[in-house]
Amino acid sequence: MRENEILLIVGAGHAGAELAVAARQQGWLGRIDLIGDEAMLPYQRPPLSKAYLHGAASFESLALRPASAYEAARVQVHSDAQLVQIDRAGHRVHLQDGRVMPYTKLALCMGGRPRTLVLPGLDAGAKPRNLHYLRTLTDADAIRAGLKEGARLVVLGGGYVGLELAASARKFGAEVTVIEALPRVLARVTGAQVAAFYEAVHREAGVQLRTGLSVERAELADDGAITALVCASGERIAADIVVAGIGMLPNVELAQAAGLAIDGGIVVDAFSQTSDPDIFAAGDCTAHHSALYNRHIRLESVPNALEQARAAASALCGKPKPNHAVPWFWSDQYDLKLQMVGLSQGHDACVLRGDPASRRFIAFYLKEGVVIAADAVNRPADFMLAKRLVAAGVRVDGPALGDESVSLKDRLPASPAAPATVAQLG
Ligand SMILES: Cc1cc2nc3c(=O)[nH]c(=O)nc-3n(C[C@H](O)[C@H](O)[C@H](O)COP(=O)(O)OP(=O)(O)OC[C@H]3O[C@@H](n4cnc5c(N)ncnc54)[C@H](O)[C@@H]3O)c2cc1C
Repeated sequence: MRENEILLIVGAGHAGAELAVAARQQGWLGRIDLIGDEAMLPYQRPPLSKAYLHGAASFESLALRPASAYEAARVQVHSDAQLVQIDRAGHRVHLQDGRVMPYTKLALCMGGRPRTLVLPGLDAGAKPRNLHYLRTLTDADAIRAGLKEGARLVVLGGGYVGLELAASARKFGAEVTVIEALPRVLARVTGAQVAAFYEAVHREAGVQLRTGLSVERAELADDGAITALVCASGERIAADIVVAGIGMLPNVELAQAAGLAIDGGIVVDAFSQTSDPDIFAAGDCTAHHSALYNRHIRLESVPNALEQARAAASALCGKPKPNHAVPWFWSDQYDLKLQMVGLSQGHDACVLRGDPASRRFIAFYLKEGVVIAADAVNRPADFMLAKRLVAAGVRVDGPALGDESVSLKDRLPASPAAPATVAQLG
């Protein structure tokens, strides 16, 4: 590492901001450039569907770090700067505004973009003024402007972002309908009991939750705004605002055009290195091999973005520390803090500890007696223990996990055992 070496980080979000500051802390001597195509300093995205949307968090509180932190770390932040091409042979990148920036090491932290809604009745080239997506601060501001008492909000997609948005919108007294094509909400990410609990909570809060319903077309007013969504059943759901929360596409195209390995995301190893030793990547735009689940995964979570960024920073500074963190995530809806660890797909048993009616419980997902994931609702202390159980990857007495008279601590292995990978089971 020398003073004339340049670390160029593209994407000023959770991963990019962390990588920039961590690289300096880990001893990167040369220049650090952080470029991002948004207008503001890196900010937190999770509050956009939660506290910021319903007004409990201010714009100022969203910043990940104050400007002084980047100055102190000697990180040059370039806002409103969009990468358009990576020239690997020349070790430089091209920006939209014509600038060409050199690098010694490049880090791609470009996140993703919302999947767009394609429906008969909608013109692919023109977005109706009352159709929104939720990824950026600008998106959140546009949605917030339409959330008024009695406004009819239709949310397409019953994933976390859609449900958090529904909960926030109820605080404004909006009439909220959530349409989910699958038979239950949170189908991709959680088990049936936890989904049923959240469905009941939303219905109690006055949300019209419509599962197993697919939207067939949109009806538009003369000015192009959506007036209603027409379902396959023929039902017509009137709308003043529509938000499509139907998933995210990782921003991989520029990496792909540059010839980097892609497999659902930019492929990285445990050090966040891509198939080019001079290019690293971190966050939502990456895919990696999970040693625990023995398969390729792409995660959309702040903890993953931060862990991958830190792994990249240490590798870039010649102090490699592999990232084997167990995936985790959280979601805030109403008075409920949901914390999830691990990936529950493929579980063969679910054990509940605590009664969902008390709004404090934890669901353990097991595969052949090994806890592969857990969802904790308003049980932060148990969540910390569940994280250790999932990471340990050892067989437990499944039904006993539900016995509240026995401490969860007693279920943990005395010393860290070599964890079984989930793929080794069954
Ligand atoms: C509404 C919402 C709620 C969420 N809630 C939670 C939560 O509760 N818990 C949780 O763990 N996660 C949550 N997430 C997910 C979390 O925000 C992401 O996992 C996290 O932001 C990923 O960080 P990142 O740095 O990979 O991507 P991002 O934070 O998206 O940053 C990527 C940045 O790169 C920029 N960029 C893209 N392309 C270019 C280019 N060509 N040139 C320059 N810049 C570019 C983007 O504009 C963006 O600023 C939520 C996400 C959303 C949208």
